[in-house]
Amino acid sequence: MVPSIERKRRLWLLIVLIVLSYILIFQWELNESESENTITDVSRLMPTKINSIVNGSEEKGIVEALSKARKENLKVSIAGKRHSQGGHTYYPDGVVLDMTDFNKVLSVDPVHKTVHVQSGATWDDIQKEVNPHGLSVKVMQSQNIFTIGGSLSVNAHGRDIRNGSLIETVNWFRLLKSNGEIITVSRKENAEYFPLVIGGYGLFGVILDVELQLTSDELLTLETEEMDYDEYEDYFKQDVLKDENVKMHLARLSTAPDTFLQDMYVTNYRGSDKQEQYPDFNHLKRDKFTFLTKFLLGLSRDFDWGKNLFWEMQKSFFDKKDGDLETRNNVMRSESEFLEYKGKSDTDI
Ligand SMILES: Cc1cc2nc3c(=O)[nH]c(=O)nc-3n(C[C@H](O)[C@H](O)[C@H](O)COP(=O)(O)OP(=O)(O)OC[C@H]3O[C@@H](n4cnc5c(N)ncnc54)[C@H](O)[C@@H]3O)c2cc1C
Repeated sequence: MVPSIERKRRLWLLIVLIVLSYILIFQWELNESESENTITDVSRLMPTKINSIVNGSEEKGIVEALSKARKENLKVSIAGKRHSQGGHTYYPDGVVLDMTDFNKVLSVDPVHKTVHVQSGATWDDIQKEVNPHGLSVKVMQSQNIFTIGGSLSVNAHGRDIRNGSLIETVNWFRLLKSNGEIITVSRKENAEYFPLVIGGYGLFGVILDVELQLTSDELLTLETEEMDYDEYEDYFKQDVLKDENVKMHLARLSTAPDTFLQDMYVTNYRGSDKQEQYPDFNHLKRDKFTFLTKFLLGLSRDFDWGKNLFWEMQKSFFDKKDGDLETRNNVMRSESEFLEYKGKSDTDI
């Protein structure tokens, strides 16, 4: 009798927990939908009335949309995945060129280690094409969800600490200027545009396609360490920068109340001596346990104890990864789905 009651209690507890989790994760995710003529970015802080959105998968369509806007005297903005938060990708009563359908990986050159890609493609699109060739992107953000055009326009940086920021890895790109002219830009041709457009937030024209340098994919060993924030500067200079075998690096600083901006942990990605034996270069990892990580991140958004819990769990998770092996391509596609948040009455920056 008693065990059966106990079992029922546990079952009820489980059901209550599942319902609570569900409410926590999804209740605030009832996103107010964008109406046809209103647009926003992932922050959803500045919904703005626009004239129209143009999705172009063909160059001709993009050129025509720009020409039409010019004739009608309408302002034009350019949008990738709209993860730059602050309204960079739209303008009141303007035309938004949504580049996300202009997303072909046009060619991969394994000999010269380059990729030619349209600007609406994401890093994920590139990784899928170059991984079978044993190649890898030189510089990109930690996440692979962004468009190439959006990444070039902010001159992104990432975990690779040896190849600078994205601009260093660009050979050339084609630019559609506001007057309709298409030019090729490199360090030698129309060179003045090179540093203006890369990091130029779309102000100098539409990046159509680009050739990026690649490097070899390789096996890396993860090395994790905890430290106080004031030890970090010396640690980075001495133990990271000076050690050429550290190929990539990541440092996370606590935002949990108990250890706020004090506690941190670092991950170094070192070249491994097990390259030849590693059987799994073909495998590109995908997001895992999203429900759990999203749930924990949800708790950390809403409660201080949740922040402390999330930080401690994050730290111990990465601690356990000490010594793990991971390919460069997999290091450069870290989990992102759990970060997505569409709260009805709040946002997550
Ligand atoms: C979770 C998260 C993690 C991040 N991690 C990093 C990181 O590790 N390193 C880092 O450097 N940054 C990081 N960022 C910032 C990120 O790199 C930028 O927000 C980037 O712009 C996002 O790309 P997007 O495709 O969303 O661009 P969008 O937000 O769509 O556009 C950004 C800018 O580029 C312009 N643009 C877009 N496409 C084109 C085009 N084809 N031609 C010309 N202009 C264009 C837009 O007009 C806009 O001004 C991160 C952001 C988030 C949300």
